[in-house]
Amino acid sequence: MSDCIFCKIAAGEIPSNKVYEDDKIVCFHDLDPQAPVHVLIIPKKHIASLDDTTAEDEELLGYILGKVKEIAAELGLENGYRLVSNCGEDGLQTVKHLHFHLLGKRKMTWPPG
Ligand code: IMP
Repeated sequence: MSDCIFCKIAAGEIPSNKVYEDDKIVCFHDLDPQAPVHVLIIPKKHIASLDDTTAEDEELLGYILGKVKEIAAELGLENGYRLVSNCGEDGLQTVKHLHFHLLGKRKMTWPPG
């Protein structure tokens, strides 16, 4: 999508602090970190949110989840982490390109705000 900021990051048209990249996904540091480690994992394919995934995306979704522990290990999150995907208005999603927040290096609280 031409006006999507995360598509532009995935395409390298907007600079980002990348942690990991392959042909399917990109992981980069969040601009406004909510924990000492806060990165975003996104598919290169434009999908607006979890709610917009289809059966065709199942393999990609599994691929992303499978990569999380590798990225977490690379970032030194050996004590645990939180993975979050905000969806839609009530989920407080602000960027309409599917992304997973990976947060770590602090003790999280529950319930989330
Ligand atoms: P959401 O609120 O779950 O949609 O999360 C969007 C996240 O993207 C927020 O945590 C923002 O700080 C982050 N963000 C927005 N623009 C950029 C950017 O250009 N680079 C890195 N992170 C961004």
